[in-house]
Amino acid sequence: MLLFLMAFLALLDIGFALPNPNSSFPFEDLLSSPERFGFPTWGQSLNVQAENLRDDVESGELNNCQFAVEFPTNAFVTLLTFKQAELTPTCRIDVSSAQDISTTIKVSKLTQCPFVVKSGGHAAFAGGSSIQNGMLINMARLNMVSLSDDRKITKVGPGNTWYDVYKKLDPLGASVVGGREAGVGVGGLALGGGISYFSGRYGWACDNVLNYEVVLANSSIVNASPTKYSDLYWALRGGSGTNFGVISRFDLATFEQGLLWGGSRFYSMDKNISLSEAFSNFVVDAPTDDFAHLYLAFVYASELGGFAANTGPVYGLPVANPPIFAELEKIPYVEDATGFSNLTSLTVALNQTAFLSFKTVTFNNDATLIKEVIEIFVEEASAVLDVPGIIPAFAFQPISLNIIDKMTKNGGNVLGLSSSSGPLTSNLPIVARLSLS
Ligand SMILES: Cc1cc2nc3c(=O)[nH]c(=O)nc-3n(C[C@H](O)[C@H](O)[C@H](O)COP(=O)(O)OP(=O)(O)OC[C@H]3O[C@@H](n4cnc5c(N)ncnc54)[C@H](O)[C@@H]3O)c2cc1C
Repeated sequence: MLLFLMAFLALLDIGFALPNPNSSFPFEDLLSSPERFGFPTWGQSLNVQAENLRDDVESGELNNCQFAVEFPTNAFVTLLTFKQAELTPTCRIDVSSAQDISTTIKVSKLTQCPFVVKSGGHAAFAGGSSIQNGMLINMARLNMVSLSDDRKITKVGPGNTWYDVYKKLDPLGASVVGGREAGVGVGGLALGGGISYFSGRYGWACDNVLNYEVVLANSSIVNASPTKYSDLYWALRGGSGTNFGVISRFDLATFEQGLLWGGSRFYSMDKNISLSEAFSNFVVDAPTDDFAHLYLAFVYASELGGFAANTGPVYGLPVANPPIFAELEKIPYVEDATGFSNLTSLTVALNQTAFLSFKTVTFNNDATLIKEVIEIFVEEASAVLDVPGIIPAFAFQPISLNIIDKMTKNGGNVLGLSSSSGPLTSNLPIVARLSLS
């Protein structure tokens, strides 16, 4: 039985880096002609055969997940971020189509071997997109990025990072609402919410998915949009993915986009009060200019002599220092890395840090509270500075009223924010690791 299942998964051509990524395993053939694949003929009904396979698992003849070929641990270390790499899956299934995902779900059910889905692998906790004793469904081969002829929709596979998407769209003068760092995956960001440089204009990434191709728990493949499976569509917008199905393709609203202005600036820590006020005022004023985006961060960086502040002003048009950043402009910085660039370069420039762990909390936009949070951060972070290899950091992100307004389109998202929530600030404590090596 064990040998059969190893052969079975090899035949699947959805795993173990087999050469032809396009063919998929004929699962129905397995059920209707099991002898072709080395199974005994169990009976006439497909259910009987499925039940027999399950019985083998339950009786211990086939141990849960033991059918899988072991993958070298280091292959996962390169595949996953630090937290994810704490767990070692029994096997990795490299799916190439929605049908492959469907088949994998059937196999998972038949063998009672749990699975997890991995897009960019940046989930903040072990188990988010890795698993101990289970199958890791790796989306990497689902790497389609295809702009429609009318330039209104980009079909994107969940195997892409945002870098892959922008690199394809930038030369076409088009863009989508996605992540701000190159290495983050399309899957997790678009399903979890998705704060973007373009959120003032269009809302979060999840508000700009026009259609999801989804593989459901019963292995069927459906499309969820405002008009089809609209309840599923709503749930997927910010409700995370694997809870409801596995997304095999995102159809993203697309817009014309040229060069942007922006980047990052560093400040000495004594500017933290004026920066807190400038950031908080920006969150209030943001609805006057949908093209503007700003984050405020604090980090311990020994090369900068200790704690330092960092801002990320970005403008969606090639206009340097637009009036919306006037208050910020008055605050002297020690290092300036702003300029004109396309989105690909901007996301690469920001993609310098590997996060070991991060959490989020959201509160009313309030400069006094922001200042207090910074004080607490410095106090708490000071206690762990001698821990080797980590950099404590902290970021404030805007959820201004124009963003909240754009979140209500297409029936609204599962996050349920409304303008009565008022402008908000999302706060992100981060522990970043120094380097990937
Ligand atoms: C360096 C860094 C920068 C970030 N920048 C931003 C940012 O600018 N804006 C923002 O909003 N967030 C940002 N985040 C947070 C990020 O959006 C989340 O961590 C997100 O979950 C990562 O997605 P991923 O695909 O890379 O991760 P993964 O770990 O692969 O996926 C995250 C979760 O989504 C599930 N999932 C992934 N793909 C699918 C699918 N196709 N079907 C079903 N479920 C799926 C996974 O199973 C997992 O539970 C950042 C995180 C990091 C580490």
